[in-house]
Amino acid sequence: MLRIGFVGWRGMVGSVLMGRMREEQDFKGFEPIFFTTSNVGGKGPDVGVDIPPLKDAFDVDLLSSMDIIVTCQGGDYTKELYPEVRKHGWNGYWIDSASALRMKDDSIIVLDPVNRAVIDSGLSSGIKTYVGGNCTVSLMLMALSGLFACGHIEWISSMTYQAASGAGAKHMKELIAQMAVLGDASRTLLDDPASTAIAIDEIVTRELRSNTFPTENFTVPLAGSLIAWIDSPMESGQTREEWKGSVETNKILQTKKPIPVDGVCVRVGAMRCHSQSLTIKLDKDVALDEVSEMIEEGNQWVKLVPNRKESTLQSLTPAMVNGTLTIPVGRLRKMLMGPEYVTAFTVGDQLLWGAAEPIRRILNIIIEHLS
Ligand code: NAP
Repeated sequence: MLRIGFVGWRGMVGSVLMGRMREEQDFKGFEPIFFTTSNVGGKGPDVGVDIPPLKDAFDVDLLSSMDIIVTCQGGDYTKELYPEVRKHGWNGYWIDSASALRMKDDSIIVLDPVNRAVIDSGLSSGIKTYVGGNCTVSLMLMALSGLFACGHIEWISSMTYQAASGAGAKHMKELIAQMAVLGDASRTLLDDPASTAIAIDEIVTRELRSNTFPTENFTVPLAGSLIAWIDSPMESGQTREEWKGSVETNKILQTKKPIPVDGVCVRVGAMRCHSQSLTIKLDKDVALDEVSEMIEEGNQWVKLVPNRKESTLQSLTPAMVNGTLTIPVGRLRKMLMGPEYVTAFTVGDQLLWGAAEPIRRILNIIIEHLS
């Protein structure tokens, strides 16, 4: 029976992964072993089967006895342990949600509804390292997989509206704490029907600028504001998040001629859904009906939202998509720039398709490959 080690199962991505695996009844046909960096001997998650107490995630001998290691522990862990276990002669499959190994020549970025052929060819040629992609990139590719497959995309500009969860669990909590401070401070005026919006705004602005406003994690207000910078700076003037758009898209698709993807990545006060406004330059004038059809046929999770107000408000929002695997694509139309320019808006849960789901699915693909 395959022995599969899970590291980072209680973090944010890990717990969404555990939830999805339980939901899909994935915990069967292999022996799961749960690791920890902080609680050796403790109790593992409830996965519906008996599991031994938690093992030490730094025990290279034990890790090396796994057929597959799945880690959602983070980049620092990967950077430390991955070379160790490989140096130890371990030749098993390493599945990772962190970005550390994504751009290595001998790794594949996984998003099987989009690049199953790349994954299958990697498995046949003996690649042993499979990494989940950047959340924004994966969600954009899930939305446009049909259009990419038809080969009509010349370039994409993606302007993003990214959720707090992308920055981590503490940031999600801080966003709500910020909202609570703003709500509490304006409560009396909110409850007074005679109060003015300007008076409330003065209170809100004072709170946003006060040095007691909770900004330990974001460093600045996100509630009632936004942050036009995600991750570290690059030489190009892009942020690392923006840089990933092009390099990861082209690695996931293994394009022969790179397709430029660029834009501005912005953090907004959504909880766990990233939204993206896309400008798509096609290689020729393709009728909008055909573009819609290609997008809709891309994969079973894409849902085309008619370019109408009611449908957009109903289906194309983080509030509606949160916690689901649906990838709505709407606001689809040709642009004034010319008949080859199409705009679209898409929303996706960045903890599901943006993180845990591709990991869950590659695990099943590898198990199937090995059986
Ligand atoms: P996380 O929530 O910080 O969890 C990582 C580890 O922190 C846990 O496995 C746990 O390890 C430890 N931990 C310490 N205190 C904890 C607490 N109170 N609750 C839960 N865990 C705690 O990390 P994450 O956001 O899931 O990210 C994991 C990796 O996935 C990162 O490399 C990240 O870049 C990547 N990723 C994240 C996202 C995202 O949206 N957040 C998306 C795609 C990829 P022990 O059990 O060993 O103590």
